[in-house]
Amino acid sequence: MNAFFHIDQARRLDAADPLGHFRRAFHVPVWKGEEVIYLTGNSLGLQPVGVSEAIAQELHDWKTLGVEGHFHAKNPWMPYHEFLTDSLARLAGAKGTEVVAMGSLTANLHFAMASFYRPTPERRAILCEAKAFPSDRYALVSQLAFHGYPESDLIEVSGSGADGVPTDEDLIAAIQTHGPRVATMLVGGVNYFTGRVYDMARITAAARAQGIVVGWDLAHAMGNVPLSLHDWDVDFAAWCSYKYLNAGPGGTAGLFVHQRHHHADLPRLAGWWGHNKESRFKMGPGFDPIPSAEGWQVSNAPVLSMAAQRASLDLFDRMDLAQHRVKGLDLSRRCMEMLEALAEELNEPIRLLTPREDASRGCQVSVQFSARDRRFFDQLVERGVVADWREPGTIRMAFIPFYSSYEDLARLEQILRQTLSS
Ligand SMILES: *Cc1c(COP(=O)(O)O)cnc(C)c1O
Repeated sequence: MNAFFHIDQARRLDAADPLGHFRRAFHVPVWKGEEVIYLTGNSLGLQPVGVSEAIAQELHDWKTLGVEGHFHAKNPWMPYHEFLTDSLARLAGAKGTEVVAMGSLTANLHFAMASFYRPTPERRAILCEAKAFPSDRYALVSQLAFHGYPESDLIEVSGSGADGVPTDEDLIAAIQTHGPRVATMLVGGVNYFTGRVYDMARITAAARAQGIVVGWDLAHAMGNVPLSLHDWDVDFAAWCSYKYLNAGPGGTAGLFVHQRHHHADLPRLAGWWGHNKESRFKMGPGFDPIPSAEGWQVSNAPVLSMAAQRASLDLFDRMDLAQHRVKGLDLSRRCMEMLEALAEELNEPIRLLTPREDASRGCQVSVQFSARDRRFFDQLVERGVVADWREPGTIRMAFIPFYSSYEDLARLEQILRQTLSS
């Protein structure tokens, strides 16, 4: 059988891969007796093997200690969120005081907007990318409405990227055009549909120079691409943990607030977990916010869900992030080359939606099979490929450096060739 990327070559690359051993730290689902080709780690990361034990520990402490577990559990629940802080700060490129594990992504965006969207009649627009993830758009339009402004105050920047998604230049041009009337910008740092990675440093600087408050949705960025939120001077950011962070369905999300805001007297939607830890249990009426990202917390920590995240972050702690980046880029580049070679060989029209340039790509590849419909995708699923299908004809695939292998890629080619030629 033909092959652009041979299985023997793939196995040699896997054997030489310094990150190859991480795959054994994850449960890979099995279909018809064989491990699936799991390409949806951008939707739900696989379960780290350590998760069961981490959750069992908390269940045990709850069973044997009851409420005393808040202080006497092996990992006391009272400060439980703090056990995640250092690992998250490393991934976000932030100081420990600037990140907090809390809540859920869309809720965190609302909490952040309560502080960072402070419209005035002259400067009241919110700027985002065209075709933003629907939840983000709903959140932003509802923020406008909450302040009494119409949907038309949402500036949705479209552009020349695939699917009409803006490029860096498109965003910067829009920032310059609309700057004085934009209060806050919120853009996905990595576009969920095309996999485009934005130059967050440059865009943040351009927006801040216009007096715009800058937020990033890092749902597809945390655990995927290098981040330096502190140095980039980002005002706020939020992410979920069930995608690239492998923390399990509905896992606890996260929030970044730059340290320059920690002592500012910003309005916020407060809750007791954001209150000064020394006096929280004096149960007084006045809110005294913790002068760090923790001050944006509302409720006490969801320990069982955070235990799963802790198990996953243990693996990130052991991961060389430079190697992580190199492998994600290598797998996604080889995938794009394989798709193009296959399309040419089989005379199959395809369109890559993901940018070629390394700087504008993470480990996701989005490809449109313009002549194919859902039946084609169902056949791939039947053959053990777990990927994501969006009309029209688009397949999104993520190559997760922790557990995706070169052999996955070679098997993917075989299955694609078989399916496309049948
Ligand atoms: C996955 C994703 C979400 C999901 O929001 P939840 O509040 O976690 O359900 C929101 N925004 C973006 C950009 C996403 O990729």
